[in-house]
Amino acid sequence: MRHQPALAQRFRTLKPSATVEMSERVREARAGGRQIIALSSGDPNVPTDPRIIDAAERALRGGATHYTSSSGEPALRFAIQQRELERSGVHYASDDIIVTPGGKFAVLSALMGVVEPGDEVLIPQPGWVSYGPCIRLCGGVAVPVEMPSGFNIEALRAALTPATRAVIVNSPVNPTGEVLTEEEISGLVALATESNLWIIFDQVYADMSYTGPICFPQSLAAGFERTLVVDSLSKSFGMTGWRLGYLAMPPGVASFVVKFIQHSIYCVPAFIQAAGVAALALADELLPVYRSMFHARVLRGAEALQSVEGLSCTVPSAGFFLFPQVEGDEVEISRRWLDELNIAVLPGTAFGAAGAGHIRLSLSCTDEELDIALDRIAGAGVYS
Ligand code: PLP
Repeated sequence: MRHQPALAQRFRTLKPSATVEMSERVREARAGGRQIIALSSGDPNVPTDPRIIDAAERALRGGATHYTSSSGEPALRFAIQQRELERSGVHYASDDIIVTPGGKFAVLSALMGVVEPGDEVLIPQPGWVSYGPCIRLCGGVAVPVEMPSGFNIEALRAALTPATRAVIVNSPVNPTGEVLTEEEISGLVALATESNLWIIFDQVYADMSYTGPICFPQSLAAGFERTLVVDSLSKSFGMTGWRLGYLAMPPGVASFVVKFIQHSIYCVPAFIQAAGVAALALADELLPVYRSMFHARVLRGAEALQSVEGLSCTVPSAGFFLFPQVEGDEVEISRRWLDELNIAVLPGTAFGAAGAGHIRLSLSCTDEELDIALDRIAGAGVYS
């Protein structure tokens, strides 16, 4: 192997995903016979509804085994149009919607479309683990903007330079469960307008708000023209493994992004898209059920953690993550919980330096597993 040429810098410097790595460790430990309770991955314990599976099977048996449109099947894009209209009040033309293999690829596609080498992209932190690596894969510079006490428009303003091209905003936020207010969204749109930035708005947890409707930058006229909306069926419909998401964009952008799709994945498989049509048709029935299940779970989890000495846990406004503050070193506590309690969580610093002093627990396990995990944590606490 002495003469093997070097791999590209972009790969050599790419950090692994902390969440995916932890899932691999859990898989290995389970294969070795350990009974780990995984509170680490954002993969909800919601089985895909059988009617969605039937739709995929019917499509497969009906011949949906060929390449299909790179933008996405018309029926799915129509359903996404309706979904966007209902939620954000925005009427996207179906030509401005592109179906992607999950929200993660939607983030990457959006960044590929707007980032030139050397461009800076602001990412509020604590924030999701993949934004920085996706920016770097596009040749951009990820600029973490620390917001340990919640969304902070002035911190974003202070991070602006002439090279700033875009800002990625996620609401509801993974890992904190924070939902941006109307004022924060209009502040974001005003800042992006003044500084001529793109907004990449990641709304993959928008169906799981416990505090009322979510505000969207694309709902404001000035926001619509500069926002690339990232969404996914993964979390809302128990469909993480199907890999189905989308981008909704202002006019004129999709015709460029679609060329990236054509030259990379070509298309999302047609039978997966058929499942997506079935899922969206069931939204009014399924989403309230999943939402109330997760709401009950975060209420119970937050209450239990709050009573543990050394932990302080508020109830998130949305989603299925808890992000308690811990007294002590979050990396050491996470390690100890895995080694001694068989509970996998993530240290807050996996979500950026602003996550220091926190642990992220994903309540994506069963209620029974959650009860066992909460009992073990209450018994062991955070101190060694
Ligand atoms: N955005 C955020 C904030 C996430 O937490 C995730 C998944 O964990 C995604 C996007 C992407 O999810 P998927 O690619 O499964 O749609």
